[in-house]
Amino acid sequence: MSALHPVARLPDEWRAALDAEGERPFRASQIFAWIHQRGVMDPAGMTNLPLALREKLAAAGLAEPARVVEAHRAADGTRKLILEMTDGARIECVLIRMTRLGDGEDADVAAADDDGEDDDEPRSTAPKTRVTLCISTQFGCAMGCSFCASGRAGLVRGLSAAEIVAQVLVARRHLDSDERLRNLVFMGMGEPLHHYDETARALRLLTHPEGGGMSPRRITVSTVGLVPGIERLGRDFGGKIGLALSLHAPDDATRERIVPMNRSYPVAALMKALRAYPLPARRRITIEYTLIDGVNDSLAHAARLAALLAGLRVKVNLIPMNPIDDSPLRAASRAQVSAFREALADRGLSCFVRARRGDDVSAACGQLAFKGEEPVQLRSARSRPAPEG
Ligand code: SAH
Repeated sequence: MSALHPVARLPDEWRAALDAEGERPFRASQIFAWIHQRGVMDPAGMTNLPLALREKLAAAGLAEPARVVEAHRAADGTRKLILEMTDGARIECVLIRMTRLGDGEDADVAAADDDGEDDDEPRSTAPKTRVTLCISTQFGCAMGCSFCASGRAGLVRGLSAAEIVAQVLVARRHLDSDERLRNLVFMGMGEPLHHYDETARALRLLTHPEGGGMSPRRITVSTVGLVPGIERLGRDFGGKIGLALSLHAPDDATRERIVPMNRSYPVAALMKALRAYPLPARRRITIEYTLIDGVNDSLAHAARLAALLAGLRVKVNLIPMNPIDDSPLRAASRAQVSAFREALADRGLSCFVRARRGDDVSAACGQLAFKGEEPVQLRSARSRPAPEG
């Protein structure tokens, strides 16, 4: 069968692979549904397949690409799962329960996307708590933003599409009975658009109607602002995938201090890319803005940000900086965060403060890293250089 990890195959690719083995084509849909609808990656559990085919699938390497080695639950219900890949790479993903907080504050990283559109939930059942899952695309990160723990050790490797999707399939099993997975955000470790091909394949797998069939509008890809990647994402998915831009500053001088990538793609280029993103009607782009004390949190910054974003269909997500080890950078004060938010709101911008979630288990934004340990030595068999996106 093909070199692609079986979990990363789309239905047509399964058909081709099975055809080459003399298997019936309808088996492709059955296998794809087992994996992506029901989260069953062990062929032994695929009970409607003939035993010989199950054995063939196991021999061809169909197995879970990731297993949960630790699960932490924070006081606020946020769960951090540590997954180990078959080469020993460990990545974290975070399940965030959505709860409405006070005025202008939002616990859910994707809740600002909640535009009141109809839910797919059956009306007869008791409403379930919506959960947002935050997943990673790389082990480490090459972007080197000064306030983020994920890039401290650089990029170790990109995750395969199978490993990206496995985070969703495995995390689903960790939902409480009163919860359902509603939103998916690519805001964990790594820069998804620096790892475009595997990220795009993961998006195709996750949204495929024969699999989990997640609605693309419930998925948000967050980027430091790699302009060619934004263009590709817009083109390849018709603008249907939600886009979040980690802007963090309204001008190049401020942004260069904290986001090295700004030298390649300065603020004006980012704004041009946002304007060109083929956003569907009634959708907005999320602007992420981590507030760092004395760096980007003044009222002058807020005024410049409002002017920069005027006329764009955006909502602003303010994130008080979460502390990271060995960094002189500090969170903006509560008062400064509210003043900043009000300054934006007064200028007509839709604006949310992202409540800090899960920080007692180091699961908050920017805290996903090789916590408390050296980056593990990967078993060499399957480690490979990250494809450039
Ligand atoms: N590379 C992507 C996605 C990963 S980061 C990106 O840059 O968007 C997800 C979000 O968390 C980004 O907006 C990032 O800037 C923010 N973030 C990183 N470190 C943080 C910290 N210490 N405190 C608050 N937010 C942080």
